[in-house]
Amino acid sequence: MTKGNINVSVENIFPLIKKFLYSDHEIFLRELISNATDATLKLKHITSIGEAKVEYGNPIIEVKVDKKGKKLHIIDQGIGMTADEVEKYINEIAFSGAEEFLEKYKDSDKDSGIIGHFGLGFYSSFMVAKKVEILTKSYKDEPAAHWTCDGSPEFTLKEGKKKDRGTEIILHIAKDEKAFLEESKIRELLLKYNNFMPIPIKFGTKEINDPDHEPKTTKDKDGKETTEPHRQITVDDIINNPNPAWTKQPTELKDEDYKAFYRELYPMQFEEPLFNIHLNVDYPFNLTGILYFPKLTNDLNIQKDKIQLFQNQVFVTDNVEGIVPEFLTMLRGVIDSPDIPLNVSRSYLQADGAVKKISSYITRKVADKLKSLFKNNREDFEKKWNDIKIVIEYGMLSEEKFFEKSDAFALYPSVDGKYYTYDELYNKIKANQTDKDDKLVILYASDKDEQHSYIDAAKAKGYEVLLLDSPIVSHLIQKLETTKEKITF
Ligand code: ADP
Repeated sequence: MTKGNINVSVENIFPLIKKFLYSDHEIFLRELISNATDATLKLKHITSIGEAKVEYGNPIIEVKVDKKGKKLHIIDQGIGMTADEVEKYINEIAFSGAEEFLEKYKDSDKDSGIIGHFGLGFYSSFMVAKKVEILTKSYKDEPAAHWTCDGSPEFTLKEGKKKDRGTEIILHIAKDEKAFLEESKIRELLLKYNNFMPIPIKFGTKEINDPDHEPKTTKDKDGKETTEPHRQITVDDIINNPNPAWTKQPTELKDEDYKAFYRELYPMQFEEPLFNIHLNVDYPFNLTGILYFPKLTNDLNIQKDKIQLFQNQVFVTDNVEGIVPEFLTMLRGVIDSPDIPLNVSRSYLQADGAVKKISSYITRKVADKLKSLFKNNREDFEKKWNDIKIVIEYGMLSEEKFFEKSDAFALYPSVDGKYYTYDELYNKIKANQTDKDDKLVILYASDKDEQHSYIDAAKAKGYEVLLLDSPIVSHLIQKLETTKEKITF
């Protein structure tokens, strides 16, 4: 057995971890499951390149609550660690094994999907545990290792009894963190942070109807039919979806798949989204995701914070302010990018070059999608206009690039239910104009019923009257008049 002291800097770091570093104690679980996922993906990688002569199989991660024993177990079937590796990776806190791994394999497979840096990783477990044990067995033919540490810089490391490959982390939950021994709490956290992680996560078992058993129907002598009950079987309760829609190629997905994924994201939302935008770029930054246009009303105070940000399928936050342009925070969906720096302030984010590129990429993609929707099915686009105009008009006001592109799809409806683009409007008024020297003028109303006498009078004089009723339209008109100067409203 080895007893030892983790290096001196750790002594200063421990109280820091506990008190200041993470305001949310709950993220320890995300960190540990990220490690378990990394360990599993590493095994997948080295078996795929033939470096490890073991069967990869169908590994899962298991989370178990032992309420009586006041313990929480996180068990993976990944790469495992030898005693030397525990010394190296766990005791040398500053040493990032993930980083070393990436360095070593960086040329062999770019997309092995290592989750890597979130902060302090493993050590965040001491935010909720008074003692932590690691039982681990490497895929290499070496004895298992058993590491124990009570949160002080002292640890013990001895040979372990673990037989099967992988790592089990045992957290002895501290008194004041008892909430993490509640099954409902752990389930909630797993669903929040790990709902779309790439390795199946087992949390308990559940009963389902046996898919291999068809209940028999029998007729009695009077001809009355009775069907026997379904046979129940107990299966692992896998609580995540390891292959969420955004990780697939757009060509693999049908409209119905996008809608199904929307329901998965927002189970309480009964209204279907109007359309979706699949984001997929790997240069000059990595980003995937699916954005949805929900039906929006004219209320600018609609619920924001509906877009979820992920890094390699690990949930990070649902506040994407600074990452997507403000006007798009009214949309829903997911964005997944390992290139968005975390643990930095919002103001830093907004100044960050990579984040700026991401934001303008998203703006451009949204504009392109709107353009193609308009071109491919104008009638349908016009029908949806009322539900999406608030986002578009807001975007035209706040993002110059979007404003420039909006000529291709921004619509100006007339009181008679016709829809014009800016150029169509211009051509129409120009054609109708009798005095060529006059300015081109268009009238608009914001309320058809209240302003009907004004509308009728204007129409009688041969004017086209628009119906522009969104709350920001006066600002938009001002902008159109000053930048385009072709039409006076
Ligand atoms: P990071 O994951 O950012 O490198 P951690 O402190 O979370 O930092 O973990 C340190 C290292 O310990 C990891 O890089 C990895 O090499 C090793 N490790 C942690 N958890 C596991 C695990 N479940 N299985 C195998 N190795 C692990």
